[in-house]
Amino acid sequence: MNKLAIGLYSGGLDSILAVKLIVDQGFQVILLRFTSPIFEGRQSETEILNSILPKESFCLREIALGADFLQVIRSPKYGYGKNLNPCLDCKIFMLKKAGEILKEGGGAFVFTGEVLGQRPMSQRRDALRIIERDSGLSRYLLRPLSARLLPPTLAEESGVIRREALLDISGRSRKRQMELAREFGIVNYPSPAGGCLLTDESFAKRLKAIWAANDNQIRMEDLPLLKIGRHFLIRPGVRLIVGRNQAENQKILANASENSWLFRVVNAPGPVSLAQGNMEEADFELAASITARYSDAKNKAAVAVSCVLSGNSGGGGSSRHRVLTVCPVEDCSTRAISDLAQWFFSPIKCEILTVCPVEDCLLERYRI
Ligand code: SF4
Repeated sequence: MNKLAIGLYSGGLDSILAVKLIVDQGFQVILLRFTSPIFEGRQSETEILNSILPKESFCLREIALGADFLQVIRSPKYGYGKNLNPCLDCKIFMLKKAGEILKEGGGAFVFTGEVLGQRPMSQRRDALRIIERDSGLSRYLLRPLSARLLPPTLAEESGVIRREALLDISGRSRKRQMELAREFGIVNYPSPAGGCLLTDESFAKRLKAIWAANDNQIRMEDLPLLKIGRHFLIRPGVRLIVGRNQAENQKILANASENSWLFRVVNAPGPVSLAQGNMEEADFELAASITARYSDAKNKAAVAVSCVLSGNSGGGGSSRHRVLTVCPVEDCSTRAISDLAQWFFSPIKCEILTVCPVEDCLLERYRI
């Protein structure tokens, strides 16, 4: 009897319970955990599973979502939920990957923590059928929490797994799941909020704005910065992200892609800002001006702002740490350059602009 199964694992209570029900029937499970910048606050730890399951009964395999998943987000066959969450297509995508692993490893079935009727888009009865069919897993896809309310899978029919030991949960209430958690001694499980940023309204708004500005193109490396900062579209195709605190400034620096520009007020505390796109001279001035607006020098008539090109676009060694001064600044350029040198290990170009902080009414015109 084949006692290997493949499960989708989100780390939420439903998926923990699904794993428990399958392992309790003597299965070894390979749990697939998909990772991406769009999944926020999801734990990768296995403490909860370790506390309720024998160690040898499961292994966790992380799969990083890549450019093919971006294609799913951009043009989902079954459309979006409330925001930019293409839940049906997303599930189908993940289950296709699970199906490939099932074939390679020779498992008996794939399972998920889905609950009939729990989510309006992807867990309606007809949606569950579509997901099963389009993922190529017809009759191989088991939902242990709702199995007795759904047509039996091949594994149930053949007796590989006992259907009567599976559950009949449906609907949005989580009462039964919480009772089961108590019964199994599952504590400190994550809240059901999910943490998928595609369901977040402001994240979705920013993502749409980037698509619109970038001819429907988006890269995976663009996503982490959508979660943080103030965002401005200063011209179609040119975007500015302004850090709101030290932690965001650090994230901006850490995620600055090659050929993006980093701005910082030279002689006053303030944000790190990052501009992406095909920058023209007016864009530099506006980006610097917005950066100055959020600094401690916002009330000054003129403020020096440094801008640094991130990445190795300059080519050979001679362009490393190159400095251009486009406007005289008092005595602070040396200090500015040494500050910048602490931020970066990558090759940089630096120039300093002197600008007026942008006015609030103008700012709102560009905010996204
Ligand atoms: S909420 Fe996000 S991760 Fe979950 S199915 Fe929908 S798109 Fe996929």
